[in-house]
Amino acid sequence: MLNRAERVSGEGGLAVGAAGAKGRVQFVLNTGRSLMQGISMEGESKWSRKYFDAVAIVEMNPSDASALGVEDRVKIYNEHGAVILRVKRSDRVPAGQVFVPMGPWANVLTDPNTDATGMPRLKGVEVFVEPTDEPLTTLADVLKLLGAKHLEVYMGDVPLKTGERKVVENAVCPFCGELCDHLIVEVDGNKILRVTGGCAISSAKFLNYHRHRILKPYIREQGKLVEVDLDKALDKAADILVSSKLPLIFGLSSTDVEANKYAIELAELIHGVVDNTSVFCHGPTALAVQEVGTARCTLGVAVNLADLVVFWGCNPLEAHANHFVRVVLREGRFVKGRKERKVVVIDTRRTPTADQADLFIEVEPGRDYELLTALRMAVRDLDIEAPLVAGVPREKVVELAEIMRTAKYGVIFFGVGLTMTGAKYRNIVALIKLAHELNEWTKFSIVPMRGHYNVAGANQVSLWTTGYPYAVSYARGFPKMIVGVTSATDLLANGDVDSALVIASDPVAHLPRRAVEHLAKIPVVVIDAKWSLTSAFADVILPGAYVGIECEGAAYRMDDVPIRLKKVVDPPPGVLCDSEVLRMLVDRVKAKMGCGA
Ligand code: SF4
Repeated sequence: MLNRAERVSGEGGLAVGAAGAKGRVQFVLNTGRSLMQGISMEGESKWSRKYFDAVAIVEMNPSDASALGVEDRVKIYNEHGAVILRVKRSDRVPAGQVFVPMGPWANVLTDPNTDATGMPRLKGVEVFVEPTDEPLTTLADVLKLLGAKHLEVYMGDVPLKTGERKVVENAVCPFCGELCDHLIVEVDGNKILRVTGGCAISSAKFLNYHRHRILKPYIREQGKLVEVDLDKALDKAADILVSSKLPLIFGLSSTDVEANKYAIELAELIHGVVDNTSVFCHGPTALAVQEVGTARCTLGVAVNLADLVVFWGCNPLEAHANHFVRVVLREGRFVKGRKERKVVVIDTRRTPTADQADLFIEVEPGRDYELLTALRMAVRDLDIEAPLVAGVPREKVVELAEIMRTAKYGVIFFGVGLTMTGAKYRNIVALIKLAHELNEWTKFSIVPMRGHYNVAGANQVSLWTTGYPYAVSYARGFPKMIVGVTSATDLLANGDVDSALVIASDPVAHLPRRAVEHLAKIPVVVIDAKWSLTSAFADVILPGAYVGIECEGAAYRMDDVPIRLKKVVDPPPGVLCDSEVLRMLVDRVKAKMGCGA
């Protein structure tokens, strides 16, 4: 990681703020979720203009934009690739940094090196930025650059028919790890009329569940997608998996635990690798817990007891939009809501969540480990010699330590801002140790902010079935996990797998370029409800129904509480739940391998 002085004078760079300077300048790129990204992909699709407008942008500080002489767009590039993005000026982004929402444009620039943790570097990446008047990089441009096999999508809308009217109470939102289970969904036939209690992303998902769907199975023949029946698509998928030397089964965070169970059975059968999306979110958290244990609590404990809530490297107001209302503002048994609850936000930029905080601490990108170490020293009354730690004045570190020690019950919610950057899993080791040390003074817990609604469940099923939370290889017939070797990111980036089954997830929208490019070289099977960007790399596409809308199923909330998701409407004709599709695929593979269905 370069420091500020090196960044502004880096190779050929000009100092940010140099009067009238035009030319390339080195910046630090951070990627992350945004509210409009979530709304656009659920309300429309990732193939829509709305998604392009929300995701193909770069946010930069107005002073940097002026110093560079930027009009409306910039070229942003590094050794991994280059894209032309529309510029959004934002005071929230500190000078010297740029922010690009997670998506295929950001992936062109992110670093596939996982430092043997399975986690690519999706934040704190060095990039160059220069003004340009070249055309913006379109979705088609970026997919072609990544090696997409085709750009055909046959989106269908489920025909809506009015009929029986019903109200489903305590419905569960299948979007993020908050798993809000207090929704009221009003239905007329198979039309969802209204959703109460959910956030904007939840409404977008429920009210548009019928749009942009995969309604038929497809296989790729002579470079084109051809509609086939389910039997033929399952047969082709089974052929691909059975004939592979090392197949990868990946995703599983936006489906239920039942589907996860079949995916692991399949991996064992075909001696493949089964990995879930925690590899690029909270995989490092799982590694840290294996090393030093943890100090966890449920959301209920946080609501009822926490008079101090810290958000570190996460932005729930955009990524888990109901979290603030459900946990921070809510009145608990011993804490009378926000007025008796202090909120601290630690992040690399002033997020909307930071606007709601009593104390905001801006840490330099990738240097959280230093801040955590100083905080642990301050908690133990050790002297901090440096006047500035990771960009934070020593006095502020001591102030935060005192706030933490004097809380009656503190909870630290932490996100991928900690797991993806700098020391990666070592950040979480330090965070857990901090919580352990604070428990010598008071009561303290940590809770990871999990992204996809059942990524915690994917870890749970993997743990109880194989003994490992993710990145499990059955290559030798028994489960083993070696992050950096058996993790999906590394397997793809190193070209080690020769086929992939992607279930209810979109690695093309989340993984670095080098990993995605390998999907272009191997046969890929996709099971999904909507046309993901990964479908452009698919050789077989199998439709799946939405768990929590069209199917029942179990999922685990971010605090590892299992919750049963309800069915609200029937699935489209001929479309089965993911678990049923996977059960049939397991049977087909068994038949081909001669081990009986
Ligand atoms: S916070 Fe997450 S789970 Fe809750 S309603 Fe919003 S998207 Fe759904």
